[in-house]
Amino acid sequence: MSKLPSDLSLATLSIHQDDHLARVVDIAPPLTVSTNFEYPPADKLILARDRKISEDSGDDLIYSRFTTNVVQRAEAVLSGIFGAGAYPVTYHNGLAAFTAALFFFNPKKLAIGDGYHGCHSVAEIVSRLNGLRVIPLDSDEIDSTTLVHVETPINPTGYAIDLRKYAEIAHARGAKLLVDATFAPPPLQDPFAFGADMVMHSATKYFGGHSDLLAGVLVTKDADVQRALRGDRSILGTGMGNLEAWLLLRSMRTLSVRVRAQSASAEKIVRWLADNVERLPALTKVHHSSLQTEAFVAEQLAGGHSPTFSFEVTSAEVARALPDRLKLFHHATSLGGVESLIEWRAVTDPHVQLTLLRVSVGLEDPDDLIADLEQGLLAA
Ligand SMILES: *Cc1c(COP(=O)(O)O)cnc(C)c1O
Repeated sequence: MSKLPSDLSLATLSIHQDDHLARVVDIAPPLTVSTNFEYPPADKLILARDRKISEDSGDDLIYSRFTTNVVQRAEAVLSGIFGAGAYPVTYHNGLAAFTAALFFFNPKKLAIGDGYHGCHSVAEIVSRLNGLRVIPLDSDEIDSTTLVHVETPINPTGYAIDLRKYAEIAHARGAKLLVDATFAPPPLQDPFAFGADMVMHSATKYFGGHSDLLAGVLVTKDADVQRALRGDRSILGTGMGNLEAWLLLRSMRTLSVRVRAQSASAEKIVRWLADNVERLPALTKVHHSSLQTEAFVAEQLAGGHSPTFSFEVTSAEVARALPDRLKLFHHATSLGGVESLIEWRAVTDPHVQLTLLRVSVGLEDPDDLIADLEQGLLAA
């Protein structure tokens, strides 16, 4: 195929940005398993001493701990999804991506707020190794040795956090801002437009979208940072395996249609729940960025709200019983798949109230999902 035009949209690039990396005539990329690749002809060989494998191993096929054709294709698609000037690096899961960011910035302090509990657990392990100090997001101690980590929209409520505010604080004090944007992938929000220095996603969630792979991604606006991250990855061995990379590539073809539809359904369901709190005695409160009124929210979530939200019920007993009464929501952790999920969040998160249920909206008809929630909540 010939060279792509320069002004294509996310949906188009998700399908074509890796065309130039196809090595066979197959329309569907092959799932390959090789750990090693034949060297080029003698006159094209580059010696290790001239190559600096530790600084860049993203371009050539040598050994699969460095990269593979399918990983290269997945990263090409991600660069299309994140837009011009964005350099993605993939990992075998979201927490591996977060760990890679901590290793790369090597901060003395990590300013971190509420959010995914696993990131806090990674910070504890790194503290054990090098004395990293974990401080609150709104700490006065943020300085040039600090990495500020903001998750938005935030797990489990789906509320948006004002990125511009934290970017200003971080940059005024010489700190860097890392944003976990897992809950609102492209095309919903672009954290770089609000001052993020690096963006991470658990690609297990919306990029994967089918509850069948683990993956993570870090995105930087600096090609040198991408090279350094790939170098670290090639040594730490934190890249995706063959099957995961292949599943991720397959999944990202449909990212924009899936995420737009899930976001619109979530907004509709949240609206219905919020309008029916009085009529449904078991329901006490609904949490989601679509219910926030601050001006920054609509600006930041310009492409739509997260397809994940939470609500509260009258008691822990009701929260325990409700998932089993629903017919269209599986009771399970995680989010982002085509099938809707509900989770009594206290089962996996030690820090949330016992009355909270988290909902990940899938691709079912939202009216069917509303009817199911209605019968479940009325019976509760
Ligand atoms: C799931 C999740 C993670 C961790 O990702 P894994 O792919 O499970 O390692 C990190 N942050 C958020 C917000 C998540 O939802």
